[in-house]
Parts: sequence; C-alpha cells; structure tokens
Amino acid sequence: MFDRTKELLDIPLEKIALFRHVAPESLQGIIDCCGIRTLERQETLLFPEQVNRELYVLLSGRLRIHLQDPQSEPIAYLAPGEVAGELSVIDGYPTSAYVIADEDSRVLVMEQELVWSLATVSHAAAYNLLTMLSGRLRNANRCIGEKMLQEHAYHSYGTVDALTGMHNRYWLDEALTRMVHRASRSRAPLCVLMLDIDNFKEFNDAHGHLSGDRAIHTVAQTVLESLRPTVMAARYGGDEFLVAIPDVAVETALEIADRLRQKVAATEIPHLAAPLPPLTVSIGVTGIVPGQSAEEVIAAADAALYRAKLLGRNTVSS
Ligand code: GH3
Ligand code: MG
Repeated sequence: MFDRTKELLDIPLEKIALFRHVAPESLQGIIDCCGIRTLERQETLLFPEQVNRELYVLLSGRLRIHLQDPQSEPIAYLAPGEVAGELSVIDGYPTSAYVIADEDSRVLVMEQELVWSLATVSHAAAYNLLTMLSGRLRNANRCIGEKMLQEHAYHSYGTVDALTGMHNRYWLDEALTRMVHRASRSRAPLCVLMLDIDNFKEFNDAHGHLSGDRAIHTVAQTVLESLRPTVMAARYGGDEFLVAIPDVAVETALEIADRLRQKVAATEIPHLAAPLPPLTVSIGVTGIVPGQSAEEVIAAADAALYRAKLLGRNTVSS
C-alpha cells in the first residue's frame, strides 16, 4: 500500500521538507491516509479568513502567495516539496493569505489530525514543522522591513523641498527642536542664521517667475556647497533659508555668515543664453540661550535679519 501511494508522489520523499529525516515506518500509515488534489493554473487553494484544517504539500507545479490582494505582487512562490496551510493547521486560526496555483499543480492533502499524529510519532517531523515556521517568520520580517524602508522613503519625500532639494520647513521644525534641546542640555553653543534674498520681488518682476525659481535654486546650492556636513540648512519658505551651526560662538557664526553673503553676491544666476547678475542676501545671526525654544531662536534670528535689512541689505547682523 505504502509503495503504491509513493508512486502517486511526483517527487522523492526526501525532497518533501516536512518528511525530511522522518523514518519510513513513521510515514507509512500517514501517507496512505493523505489525499491528492489537482489544481488548475490560477485556481485558488487558500484565501484569507478561510477556516482551514488541511496542510498541503506541493508535489508538482508551482504555488504563489499573496498577502491581501491576489492582484498584488506575490510575497513568495512555493516549489515542489514545500508546504502551504501549515500555519492555520497548527494554530487553528483562519488563513491569512491567498495561495494560488501559478501553474497546473498537484498537492498532497494532509488532514490536521494526521499532521499532529506525524509530529507526535516523529521527532524529525516536529523539527521540520518548526523549521518551516521559522522560515515563514523570517519572510514576514523581511516584508515588514521592506515596508518600513518604503515608508521611510515616502516620509523623506515629504521633508524635502522640491525646488531646491534642501530640507523643508516640516523637517526643520523637528530637526531644529532636537538640535536646540541637545545644545541646551549640554550647554554647547548653537548659532542660527536666517537668510533672505534681497529685493526678490523686483527680480521676479523683471525676469519672470521661472527665472526666480532658478535663482532660488542657485542661492540654495551656494548655501549647501559652502557649509560643512554638520551644519543644517533648510528652505524656510519663499526666498528665506535657515542654517543652524552647532558648536560655534556668535562671532564665528557672523564670519561664516559674511563669507556666505559674499559667495552669494559673487554667484551669477543661470539664464537662457547669458547668466543674470548675482543676487544678494541679508543674514540675521543669533546664538541660542539655554532654555530657549526653537520658536524663540527663530524669532531672534528673524529680528536680526530685520536689522540687516534696515542696515541697507547685502549685510549680516546679530
Ligand atoms: P526684501 O529685500 O525686503 O526681502 O524684499 P523682497 O522683494 O525679497 O521681499 P520678500 O522677501 O518679502 O518677498 C519674497 C518674494 O519671493 C515674494 C514672492 O513673490 C517670491 N517668491 C516666494 N517663493 C517663490 C518661489 O518659489 N519662486 C519664485 N519665483 N518666487 C517666489
Ligand atoms: Mg526677500
């Protein structure tokens, strides 16, 4: 009887993960009690929320697994010798995924009681079940990891300013708050620069909005290229940029700001045939006082910027 059933199997017994190293005498009665089911290509074997009391060993063909939607990318394919349905057979909960025949396939059908009988009589079969479960767990962890990476990428789309490639205001609010807290706690200096392009409305009026966009991009690049990687720079909005420099005193920050001002004033704006003359920026500089909030630091930098504008623009002020 056992030999006849074995003939029904399309693959050698040792290729079946669940039966690996299981003594033939333990398998004999069990395999005789299993059924064989034939699946046509695209036929659904299992679907989510189904009450399932059978484990399926793939004998030939190929199965694919989808988490929620059968139209979505499969999370895995099963090859002959692999099993499906073991999770719901073991824990008794409804199935959680779609299992669909990717090709015409044949499966060995094992009733739940048979699976437990096998695990009871054979240490190797119990070990195989555990190994298969840990494989499923690893695959699930990998899916979760990939999803988290994707979400992280989407999050960063929302934190980058499309025109300049700099971080945006949304990102800045979080990052500056963290920087200010850290500096306050460790009593380390932190300086904030607020830059604003001078007479930018006039530039827009004279050269058009598109050239204005290019000008904002150029100023942003000049700022990014001039600063060390530890310095944080973001587009605060419109023609305004914020720069936060850790571990420097206000005097040094004023020097850095002035170098930045000179560099912007020396950078032409790319334009169709011939570049446009450089723009200038006014810069307000402030050093944090321990206990200050990020909003208070921004307000202080804004007040310094206002003083720089009053001094006649293309200037730096604290
Ligand atoms: P001030 O020297 O006092 O700063 O004068 P200003 O003309 O630059 O005045 P303000 O900074 O208040 O004006 C900023 C202008 O920047 C207003 C708006 O039309 C323009 N602007 C804001 N965002 C963009 C943008 O993304 N692209 C372009 N082309 N223009 C922008
Ligand atoms: Mg301006």
